[in-house]
Amino acid sequence: MIYLDNAATTKTAPEVVEAMLPYFTENYGNPSTIYSLGSASKKAVNQARRTIAEAIGAKQEEIYFTAGGSESDNWALKCTAEAYASKGKHIITTKIEHHAILHTCEYLEKQGFEVTYLGVDKDGLIDLEELKNAIRPDTILISVMFANNEIGTIEPIAEIGAIAKEHGILFHTDAVQAFGQVPINVDELNVDMLSASGHKLNGPKGIGFLYIRSGLKLRSFIHGGAQERNRRAGTENVPGIVGLEVATKRALRIMEEKTAKEVELRDYLIERIEKEIPYCRLNGHRTKRLPGNVNFSFLYIEGESVLIMLDMKGICASSGSACTSGSLDPSHVLLSIGLKHEEAHGSLRMTLSEENTKEELDFVVDNLKEIVQKLRNMSPLYEDFLKKNKA
Ligand SMILES: *Cc1c(COP(=O)(O)O)cnc(C)c1O
Repeated sequence: MIYLDNAATTKTAPEVVEAMLPYFTENYGNPSTIYSLGSASKKAVNQARRTIAEAIGAKQEEIYFTAGGSESDNWALKCTAEAYASKGKHIITTKIEHHAILHTCEYLEKQGFEVTYLGVDKDGLIDLEELKNAIRPDTILISVMFANNEIGTIEPIAEIGAIAKEHGILFHTDAVQAFGQVPINVDELNVDMLSASGHKLNGPKGIGFLYIRSGLKLRSFIHGGAQERNRRAGTENVPGIVGLEVATKRALRIMEEKTAKEVELRDYLIERIEKEIPYCRLNGHRTKRLPGNVNFSFLYIEGESVLIMLDMKGICASSGSACTSGSLDPSHVLLSIGLKHEEAHGSLRMTLSEENTKEELDFVVDNLKEIVQKLRNMSPLYEDFLKKNKA
């Protein structure tokens, strides 16, 4: 099997699994208890909080563990909206956010908030002038993702943070794709809230965190016990938290090497595809891009069909359709960068890890060439195109 879907989820690193195991078997105590079994768990949670805070230049009391990226995004948006509604009811975000942000914004619109969705250019970058022009006296929050999960484009987070700070507006970033992939410092970037998720950096699923800058008056998102300093009730996911800590340490340790390897593989894959498969288009910015992200549109064919045929060769990738919802709507991200519906439908996302090899990618391209040609030979759109070209 060749796994090229690391933006969907990653393999849990062996050292992560190993570190988690004792917190199922021996150290299973509830961190809130006072006997020593519980204090081992409590110690582990506190240690993890310190490690993660340090990783983004935050204070440990600014890290809140959650059940993943979606919860962190929901918390940041809903509770900021509620807490600052008396100041204003306007939020700025982008058209290319993850659904955890977009659907939360739609919910908030139903609650009487107004949301401006910034467009992006053909590479997926927001326009800072457009952002400045969108700011109003009643704007309470800007939420822009650090890096896009489909096309890999990395947004100008430091510049956005500076603009938000200058206007006294809170800034949240969904850093689920970026945390562990690129260096992040919340003070340098002027980020007030940041979402991250364990399973995107070789950690476990169902664990993440929200960074909340101290001083923000966000209320509790989950009501119940006094965990997470009264702001997120529920017995801590101790094994998950330990796993997230080890995944974070590992990501920082290997970041430089991993990035170098992935960039080389990524650019090799892009180069071979552009050279050898006609009528394709690279989606996303060429350099302001996550190290492992490759996203192409192949004209005249369906990405879904490509996926099925790649799967038969043991290759896991992803397409630009919202297949999670069972619908075949083209990706909102690809439409936002200006692709036509049929171009968006013909898209393929391959997201690499440092464990992939050139040999694997050669196998992928060799097969992809054949698959694309086979599908085009069956495509009426392609036939029309050939006819028109001849005429
Ligand atoms: C995966 C992802 C999420 C959701 O994270 P979960 O932990 O799966 O809930 C949110 N935002 C982005 C950009 C993602 O890639």
